[in-house]
Amino acid sequence: MTPDQYLKNYIDGKLVPPQSGQYLDNVNPATAEIYSYLPDSEAADIESAVVAAEKAFPGWSKTSLQERSRLLSRISEIIGQNLTAFAEAESIDAGKPVSMATTIDIPRAQENFKFFATAILHFSSEAHHMVGQAINFTLRQPIGIVGCISPWNLPLYLFTWKIAPALAAGNCVVAKPSEVTPMTAYMLSKACIEAGLPAGVLNIVHGLGPKAGQPIIEHPKIKAISFTGGTETGRRIAAVAAPMFKKLSLELGGKNPNIIFADCDFEEMMKVTLRSSFANSGQICLCGSRILVERSIYDKFKAELVKRTESLVVGNPAADETDLGALVSQAHLEKVSAYIRLAKEEGGTILCGGERVPMTGDFKNGYFLRPTVVEGLSYDCRVNQEEIFGPVVTIMPFDTEEEALSYANSTRYGLSATVWTKDITRVNRMSEKLEAGVIWINCWLLRDLRTPFGGVKNSGVGREGGLEALRFFTAPKNICMKY
Ligand code: NDP
Repeated sequence: MTPDQYLKNYIDGKLVPPQSGQYLDNVNPATAEIYSYLPDSEAADIESAVVAAEKAFPGWSKTSLQERSRLLSRISEIIGQNLTAFAEAESIDAGKPVSMATTIDIPRAQENFKFFATAILHFSSEAHHMVGQAINFTLRQPIGIVGCISPWNLPLYLFTWKIAPALAAGNCVVAKPSEVTPMTAYMLSKACIEAGLPAGVLNIVHGLGPKAGQPIIEHPKIKAISFTGGTETGRRIAAVAAPMFKKLSLELGGKNPNIIFADCDFEEMMKVTLRSSFANSGQICLCGSRILVERSIYDKFKAELVKRTESLVVGNPAADETDLGALVSQAHLEKVSAYIRLAKEEGGTILCGGERVPMTGDFKNGYFLRPTVVEGLSYDCRVNQEEIFGPVVTIMPFDTEEEALSYANSTRYGLSATVWTKDITRVNRMSEKLEAGVIWINCWLLRDLRTPFGGVKNSGVGREGGLEALRFFTAPKNICMKY
């Protein structure tokens, strides 16, 4: 399961070069050096993938659930057997600490296959009895060929979160990982070959969004699209796919509030808040980038957050002591840095961080940014309304529950929210009123894969996770039988 220098597409069960023969540079963000090349695929490669998927679909959709389950379990095992190689590759590709890839990204990718390998065995459909007249039963059939497109922040984790339920439900898949982080998707191709997944059932095509992703969205034979990425890309995808009546699942951006009441368990809250602010350098759609703190503990919280943030180790992603690695690309570093400048222009005070980390040796050109805490901004300024997706949080005091809620709900996003309090009636009031698809009370990123996952407002449409994903990747057909 070794990473290679020239990545290939996985089409019709084989590793193949792009038809154009053209490749794109793949950069290691910690060194800013090109270390491999990925296919610069285009519509012709997508067409080959669709032809392969079409050929595979009749067989795969009729394959027994037990056999589909066995193959997905086998892929999961192979990922587990190669955990170190996958984790190191993810770290080099994305700049994230190896420790994070080893404990979060790759185990979760392994778990995604394992979870849906067993979930499909328990997936059932409904029956509705019309007393004395008829019985309705609902078939849930695979859709056909589906497209899965994922972003760079949790590369294999999010890629497999889509692919595993799509395959389990009996669909054939044409998938594109982010061009920024293609390596573990390429290694997954090898795992699928080793597992004996039939040719054409899963096809992985690498390349740029507009050149390789767009033909997936536009292809008339691809009947459903599961997409995770930015809100603007989601809007473009919906504009093409909706008039074609494709089934759409869009998991988009977030600007999540982390709401802290004075009665919380302060130590536990601090520990988790440090993670929810800066895990993966803030490049997780669920990070709590707007921290709202009840005024009576604001000063204590501020001092503690700054102290703990300053103690985080930023540097070599392979070192055990590293908390934050490099940001994923130069373009992203520039985007995040521009928001830090904007925070100052909007009247904010940078309490810590705000600049690149001076590095030496191999890492001297890497995209390392200090974790940054900003205060003094109004809830409705751009920095508090737009997704930054980096190691930058703002802190704001509030006086009442209503005020906290109005700040929390003020953005166009609605992905997740975290609330810290011991007051159970407040928990119920807040949970009802917060505009978010996922709410954590006294915790963060505690994930049960059976639960519905997704956002409201501009954070997306549809739900992933558990049976929701299996429902998305199947078409219900009702059969009414008269007595
Ligand atoms: P993008 O929207 O830029 O890209 C996501 C994927 O879409 C990539 O594979 C990209 O390819 C591809 N793509 C881009 N343009 C098109 C197109 N026209 N047609 C088809 N595919 C296209 O997102 P990022 O990769 O920058 O990821 C960060 C974003 O993802 C953040 O906004 C974050 O909030 C969101 N996200 C949401 C999550 C959720 O569950 N709601 C989870 C994780 C991230 P390429 O890389 O080549 O551009």
